[in-house]
Amino acid sequence: MENQKNSCDFSSLGVSESVLRVLREMGFEKPSEIQEKSIETLIKTNRDFVGQAQTGTGKTAAFVIPLLEKIDTDAQSVQAIILAPTRELALQVENEIQKIGKYTDIKSTCIYGGTAYEKQIKALRSGRPHIVVGTPGRVIDLIEKKILKLDQAKICVLDEADEMLNMGFFDDVKTVVKAFESKAQLMMFSATMPPQILKLIKNSFDNPLVVKIEKKTLSNEDIEQKYFVVKEKHFKEGLSRLIDHASEMYAIVFCRTKIETKTVGDDLKNRGHLVEVLNGDMGQLERDHAMNSFRKGKVNILVCTDVAARGIDVNNITHVFNYGLTRDLESYVHRIGRTGRAGMKGKAYTIVG
Ligand code: ADP
Ligand code: MG
Repeated sequence: MENQKNSCDFSSLGVSESVLRVLREMGFEKPSEIQEKSIETLIKTNRDFVGQAQTGTGKTAAFVIPLLEKIDTDAQSVQAIILAPTRELALQVENEIQKIGKYTDIKSTCIYGGTAYEKQIKALRSGRPHIVVGTPGRVIDLIEKKILKLDQAKICVLDEADEMLNMGFFDDVKTVVKAFESKAQLMMFSATMPPQILKLIKNSFDNPLVVKIEKKTLSNEDIEQKYFVVKEKHFKEGLSRLIDHASEMYAIVFCRTKIETKTVGDDLKNRGHLVEVLNGDMGQLERDHAMNSFRKGKVNILVCTDVAARGIDVNNITHVFNYGLTRDLESYVHRIGRTGRAGMKGKAYTIVG
């Protein structure tokens, strides 16, 4: 007899043909665990939802697919709002909507701070999006300016809720949630559930379906983990040797501070490596330039801090280098989870003093 669990695919979750077609094109053969446990309920009901699963488990598609199924393309109003912690993440989510929604008539747009209003206002006014993805501050800003109108919105998604909390956006998040409470379907996705988030769920979510996928990364057998004990003054030399020894490499080097990313980046460049640096001191243009250059493979090494790396979704990372120990275990797990994804092998090397 056929095992029902193994035979689960997207079509049995109630996903329509126009979306299934893209998923096939994208090579999504079967739903990830969080997708398997969320998509069907989210398509078929308006129940509030809380999904907890670590980074890289496919949380985006877990809500994007149901959203695409639920939008009424005949109506020209914003029907769903998604809050994301950073511009990069918001853009990634919107990109996923555009990709998976390729064969639908669903329109979306992305709004975020740190950049001029005109284009975003125009996109909201004349683009008539059904779905808006945004960072909390700019979303509230445009609601207050009465440009973003959410009176017809029936879904509100909080993506990477714990990151929004870490970045100090939680009051804004709560403000948005307040406007939707009991009027719309609330969905939250988060890798961790700190107390403030649990409190928000308790106060504002209506009998949510809670799905928690247990962590697995620490024992991820696809990641080879090693550490190298080196005197602090020889860290750069040590890193450079590890890099020289790697044959095929597409790597992220994590540093502890912004200053360190600069000195390590410069050192690697001087040694002839192709490197981009990403840190919070850089302007948006510079950051975009660095990310594009890394994404497109013009350089194969990205040197960054934890904060700068937040939300970066780059596949096929072969090596993660930790330049010094991480603050805590959680951030170590996050970092090394950038490699060894989707069944590929990865290496995580840590240089310690
Ligand atoms: P999270 O938000 O949980 O960190 P993402 O939604 O960014 O994870 O997904 C991580 C990666 O996995 C993305 O590159 C995405 O395209 C890919 N992915 C998601 N779902 C599937 C699937 N069902 N099959 C194959 N790849 C998938
Ligand atoms: Mg995500």
